[in-house]
Amino acid sequence: MWGIWHWLERQGELRPHKAALVEGASEVHYGALAQWVACLSGGLAELGVGRGDRVAILAPNRMEYVEVLFACARLGALAVPLNWRLAAAELAYQVGDSEPAVLFADPELAALAESLRGHREAGGVRAWVLFGGGPGPSEGLPYDELLAANPAGPVGAPEDPFLVLYTSGTTGRPKGAVLTQASQFWNSVNIGTAVGLTFRDVTLNPLPLFHAGGIGLYTLPTLHVGGTAVLARKFEPEEITRLLLAHRVTAMFGVPSMYLMLLECQAFRQADLRGVRFACGGAPCPLRVIEAFRDLGRLFQQGYGLTETAPTCLIVPAEDAFRKAGSAGKPALHVEAKVVDEDGRDLPPGAVGEVWVRGPNLFSGYWRRPEATEEVFSGEWFKTGDLARRDEEGFFYIVDRKKDLIISGGENVYPAEVEEVLYRHPAVAEAAVVGVPHPTWGEVPHAVVVLKPGAELTADDLFRFCEPYLARYKIPRSLTVVDALPRNASGKVLKRALRERISLGA
Ligand code: AMP
Repeated sequence: MWGIWHWLERQGELRPHKAALVEGASEVHYGALAQWVACLSGGLAELGVGRGDRVAILAPNRMEYVEVLFACARLGALAVPLNWRLAAAELAYQVGDSEPAVLFADPELAALAESLRGHREAGGVRAWVLFGGGPGPSEGLPYDELLAANPAGPVGAPEDPFLVLYTSGTTGRPKGAVLTQASQFWNSVNIGTAVGLTFRDVTLNPLPLFHAGGIGLYTLPTLHVGGTAVLARKFEPEEITRLLLAHRVTAMFGVPSMYLMLLECQAFRQADLRGVRFACGGAPCPLRVIEAFRDLGRLFQQGYGLTETAPTCLIVPAEDAFRKAGSAGKPALHVEAKVVDEDGRDLPPGAVGEVWVRGPNLFSGYWRRPEATEEVFSGEWFKTGDLARRDEEGFFYIVDRKKDLIISGGENVYPAEVEEVLYRHPAVAEAAVVGVPHPTWGEVPHAVVVLKPGAELTADDLFRFCEPYLARYKIPRSLTVVDALPRNASGKVLKRALRERISLGA
C-alpha cells in the first residue's frame, strides 16, 4: 500500500510538465513539485524529523505549504497547520500541545512567529524556517536551504497519522483532530466522485489550508487526480473573480459567507462563469444564496462535513442541487451516516436527531486526548453533535448544532431555522440567533443582525415579518444591530462570543 506522497510521485511521471499548483505569479509543474518535495523531505530529515514527529506551519495559502504537507507524508511525519488568525497565546497552546520539532512561517507573519517564539510552550521547537528564501526569524533557517538536501527515502504509509488539525473552537478548548494519510485518500475519492473532479479540472481554493476544508476541498483531491489547484492567498471578492476568469477555473468550494460576499460583488455577478461548478458547505447556507446561483445558471452543490470527517461527509448530487435546495445532501460514496435519538437508536424520516457517521474517512482520535475521543465515539460511529432530519428520499437537513439548541418554555428552537427566515428580510445582510435568559421561559431567541447599507429595522418590524413563517415562541423578541458578526477563520459565526456580547449589553 502507498502513502499520499505516492500520488505526487506518480503524477510527476504521468504529467511532469503540467501545472500542479498556481499561486500569484508562481506556478509549479508536477515533475518539479515531486522533486522539490523529495528534497524537502531530505532537509527535514537532516533536521531530525522522522516518522511520527510533528511539523507546524504558520502561513497563508502558498505553494510551499503544500510542499511541506507532502514532505511530511513522505517521512511519515505529522503536519500541524496553524490558524494565523489566532493570537500568539492561543497558538502557543497548540504548539505546546502538539510539540512540533520544526515550525515553518510566512514572512508576512514573521512578527507573529517571533512573538510565538517568546512563549514557553514553543520552547521545544528545534528549527524555525521562513518561507520565501529570505532570512528566517532571528536565528531561523531560510526555506531554500532545506531544498538543497538529498531526498530522504519514502516511508510514509496510509495508516500513518498525517495531520493534527485543531478544530474551530466554537465549543470548548481546541482539540487536535488526528487524520491519517488514508483519510485524505478517502476524502479525495468521496469529494472527487461527488463533484466529478478529473485531471481536466482547474480548482480555485480560497479556504485556508489550516482547515480540513482548505486541504480537502479541493487542494489535495485536485493533486490526486492530476488537475491544477489555484491557491487563493486571501478572500477578496474582486480578486476571486479575477482568478476564476484568469485561470479558467472549473470548480470551486467555499463557505456560505464567501458566497454572500461574492453575490454582493458586481464584477462576480457580471462575469461569464459558465465553466465553473460551485460547491458550498461548512455552515448553513441561506436559501437566497442557492437561489441566486440557480438564477445565474450556475451549478451550486451543498455539502456538509467536519474536521473529524476529513471533511466530506454529505453532499447533494449535482442533479438535485436545486430540487433539494436547503438539504446538506446524502452520504458521500464511502461514508455512512444516520440520524439517531438520545439513546443512539435509528430515527425514521422526519424526526430530528443527532447525525452519526462511520467510514474510512474518519479521524483516528484527538491528539493526546483519549477521554475526549471516547466521548465522541459510539463503537465505530462518530457522534457529530449536529442535529438533522432526513426526508423520505434520504436527504439530510442539518437543523443545528446540538449545543446551539435554544429551549424556550420547554419547546425546542433551532437557530438555523429562525436565521433562514431573518435572511429573507430585505433589510438584513447577515443574521444570527442566540438564546438569551428569560425569567419565565428559561431562554428566548434573540436576533443579532447586520443591516444592509442605509437600512433600518426594529424588533417589532422583525416580529411582524417572521409571524407568517414561524411559531410565535421561535420568533426573536429582541434585536441587536451590529456592524459585523464575529466569525472564525472558516466563516462560522461564533455564537458564544455573541451571547457574551449581548449579556454585557455591548
Ligand atoms: P468544522 O469542524 O470546523 O469544519 O465544523 C464542522 C461543523 O460545521 C459541523 O459540526 C456543523 O455544525 C457545521 N456545518 C458544516 N457543514 C454544514 C452545513 N452544510 N450545514 C450546516 N452546518 C454545517
